[in-house]
Amino acid sequence: MVRRCRQWLLGTLCVFTLAACSEPGGEGEAAKAVEWKLVTSWPKGFPGMGVAPERFADTVNRLSNGRLVIRVYGAGELVPSFDVFNAVSKGTVQMGHSAAFYWQEKIPAAPFFSSVPFGLSAQEMNAWLHYGGGLALWQSLYEPYGVVPMAGGNTGAQMGGWFNKEIQTMDDLKGLKMRLPGYGADVFKRAGGIPVSLSGGELFTALETGAIDAAEWVGPYNDLAFGLHNAAKYYYYPGWQEPSTTLEFLVNQQALQSLPDDLQQLVITAARAVNQDLLDEYTVKNMQALDVLVREHDVALRRFPAPVLVELQRLTRELLVEISENDPVLARIYASYRQFQADTQLYNRVSSGEIVNGD
Ligand code: CA
Repeated sequence: MVRRCRQWLLGTLCVFTLAACSEPGGEGEAAKAVEWKLVTSWPKGFPGMGVAPERFADTVNRLSNGRLVIRVYGAGELVPSFDVFNAVSKGTVQMGHSAAFYWQEKIPAAPFFSSVPFGLSAQEMNAWLHYGGGLALWQSLYEPYGVVPMAGGNTGAQMGGWFNKEIQTMDDLKGLKMRLPGYGADVFKRAGGIPVSLSGGELFTALETGAIDAAEWVGPYNDLAFGLHNAAKYYYYPGWQEPSTTLEFLVNQQALQSLPDDLQQLVITAARAVNQDLLDEYTVKNMQALDVLVREHDVALRRFPAPVLVELQRLTRELLVEISENDPVLARIYASYRQFQADTQLYNRVSSGEIVNGD
């Protein structure tokens, strides 16, 4: 009896001691907790892309047992949407969640790592980045800024956007003021349109007040959340400008290197998990939201006419060739991207393409 009591007492003491050691703010391991700030380009808690960094932070906090605590801030809370890269680069914050095409002015090749018009699908982007050499090119592109990029989710195929007039020929794009980002904006300009750069949070008001004529944001899931169907009549497809869009985690290089190896690996692994998880979420939510938009809100779906798409594709090729000419870094990335797309299209022709088109 005495022996059993002693065993019980020892067991209780052990449990008590372990609990004390792992208590946040207590002595020992928890006292070494590292606190990071993560800023995003999205409204706080916005469906999909806004929640993904919260999931990432929660995963890291829990799997590190409180040794790495990451706090997430929405657009404008610490820095504006388009200052995320600079904030991470300067070390004002340790992490960011955004999309690479927002840094095009500073880094002309950056859009290859978010989205290219008529480019790779989400599955293909993930393959190129992680097994086709894309990630290494991305890392060396951001290296001079002291920023380490990681894929941070994918929206899947986007929609072509919201218009208040029908698009029947290329002439209908001329003079049109439209919000769209990245190389898509450059192509739109070549088509005679006027591209406008706006963050997500500014988009609804600009469209509703007529400050812009048309806008693309993401796809049904996110467009419904912003209520864009209340600001424009026609919802166009396909999203030629963004056949898939990779989001990114940005990590300050010094902050990452200062972590012990296991926490560095945890950040990398959690980012990879969120990258896939967000695509899974968009795949389900986009199809559900499109149904709601069409059935409950009577949204008029329209397809861009084939000749318009053919011309936009021609302008895309023209743009990419031209911007490669005087930029060897961009040319190297474009060569890798283009080769990967050609290879994957060959395989698609005898695999998924045939299954989708099969009788
Ligand atoms: Ca978009």
